[in-house]
Order: sequence, then C-alpha cells, then structure tokens
Amino acid sequence: MKCSYCSREAIYFQRYSGKHLCRRHFISFFEKKVRAVIKKYKMIESGDRVAIALSGGKDSVTLTKLLSELYDGRRDIEFLAITVDEGIEGYREKTLKVAKEVTKSVGIEHYVARFEDNFSVKLDEMVRVGEKLPCSYCGVFRKYLLNKAAKELSASKLATAHNLDDESQTILMNFINADIDRLARLIPQRDQEGLIRRIKPFMEVYEKEVVTYGLLKKYPLIFDECPYSYFPVRAFVRDFIYELERKYPGRKISILRSFEKLSECLKITNPQIELNRCNICGEPTSQKLCQACKLVGELKDKIEIEYNQKIFLSKT
Ligand code: SF4
Ligand SMILES: [Zn+2]
Ligand SMILES: [Zn+2]
Repeated sequence: MKCSYCSREAIYFQRYSGKHLCRRHFISFFEKKVRAVIKKYKMIESGDRVAIALSGGKDSVTLTKLLSELYDGRRDIEFLAITVDEGIEGYREKTLKVAKEVTKSVGIEHYVARFEDNFSVKLDEMVRVGEKLPCSYCGVFRKYLLNKAAKELSASKLATAHNLDDESQTILMNFINADIDRLARLIPQRDQEGLIRRIKPFMEVYEKEVVTYGLLKKYPLIFDECPYSYFPVRAFVRDFIYELERKYPGRKISILRSFEKLSECLKITNPQIELNRCNICGEPTSQKLCQACKLVGELKDKIEIEYNQKIFLSKT
C-alpha cells in the first residue's frame, strides 16, 4: 500500500483518519502532534527545567529521547530524568539499566529515588505484608517521591509519558467509580504550592503510535510487563475501549474531547481547593494527612517502615 501523501510504501495505517503513512510521514505526523499538544497546554516554555519521569519502559524512553531531540540546542530549556525504583525483583533492574543508558545518550542528569532508601522497605515487602493491591502502594508512593524529587531538584515541571490510551482509561475509570473530584483534578486548574505541575506531552497520541515512533527511531525499547500489573477494573476498561476503537475508530480521542468540554463545568462544580500541609510530612494534601502517610500508618503495624522529610536520591 502506498503512503497517502507520497509515493513511498506505507508502514502505518491510521484507522481513525483513514490515512496510510510512510516512515517519513509517520514521523512528521507524530512530532507535529506532540509539538501541538505541548503548545496547546503551554507544557514547556522558555526557562523551564523539566523533570522527566523515566521508568525505562517503552513510553518514557520514547518521551525522553523525543523531548531531548525536539529541544536540542535550546539553552533556555533544561531536562533531567528521575527514575523511581520501587523494589520489584526481576523487573525494575532491567528498566533502570535502560534508563541510565538513555539519559547518558542524550546527555541529561539522571537521578534514582528508591523506595528502600526512602521508606526503608521495597514494594515487594509492602505487598507481602499489606492488604491492598500492589499498584495502590506503588502509585501513591511513586507519585509522592516524584513530586518530592522534582522539588528537590528545582524542576519547574514534571513530564510523564501517559498516552491517549492511559488518559481515556483513567477518564472512564473515574466515571465508573463515580470519583468526580479525581476526574476534575485530571486537568489542573491552577498551580498549587508544593505540587510540581505535571505535563503529559503524549496525552493525544495512541500507545501504538508512541511505540511505532520509538521503533522507527530505533530507541532501546523493552516490552517487559511489571509482574504486579493486574489491575482488575482497568484491564476491563482497557479491553472495552480497545473493542470500541476497533469497531468505531477515533473513540479514544472523543472520550478525551468530551472530558475537555466537561472540565469547564467541573471547574465550577468541583473547584480545586487550597491544599493543606500534611500533619506528618508537610507535603501538600487536601486532607489532614497525605495518602503516603496514611499508607505508612497502615503498614507500620506490620513492618518497620520509616521515612523523613528529606528525600534520598542517587545520581547515576
Ligand atoms: S503495574 Fe502497578 S506495581 Fe507495577 S509498576 Fe505499575 S503501578 Fe507499580
Ligand atoms: Zn509518505
Ligand atoms: Zn504526609
């Protein structure tokens, strides 16, 4: 099949647009799209020091490489990368190695925040003794460490590699769980002291497009899955959206667009409140204690777990 824009062979069929794209036109489409999203939400601006949450998985590797290339030569914008090592045996070591290589190849600073250094236990240990799902511990503590690390490293933004698949799943999940407050928080209404603004340059591109781009550019992508990745509801929602998209191409982006329209109303019905400081650790929270301190409190009965206000980072 020929490319819809030139006489070269197509390597990608974009079902929602009906276009066939050759390597050159796919790369140009993808980069234009990401640039447009960055511009639309003013994600990266002159003077920014952007911390990239780099797990070492395929999406975050592609994000790190692409941002470094797109802004190559811009002395007014800086990037650095932070990897959170949760302590998942047989999994994180491999992605950590890739993360280190990638940051070296693009010449940016790379820091690692380990659960073990910061909470005195690894995720594997929390899962062994705790009653919650692994992702509940992992998600809360990772978010906590990323924000603290980004602040410690004087970053102005925190970039994550969430793509359109992730975003559409999260939007539907919040509807299903009737968690409208959380839905409203998906697009921050204003900056809050102590919380580094999160940006998602891949939020309007499909996961398949991110991977295709990474493979075409020969980035070192690894496809290992975390051994704990069995989110029951999310897996169901993911399969449902996949089927919907297969039958009616373009539904993922329409879920995002519906949410964007709704978010104007959510600003009025669910305005973002001024955050308090956690009574224990001082981090921003909407309640008296932050989620991380609540979880630590639950785990304390079962294991020795401790942390302090300082964040422990190692530079690779
Ligand atoms: S799948 Fe769950 S446990 Fe594994 S890295 Fe992701 S959030 Fe953490
Ligand atoms: Zn072409
Ligand atoms: Zn706290």
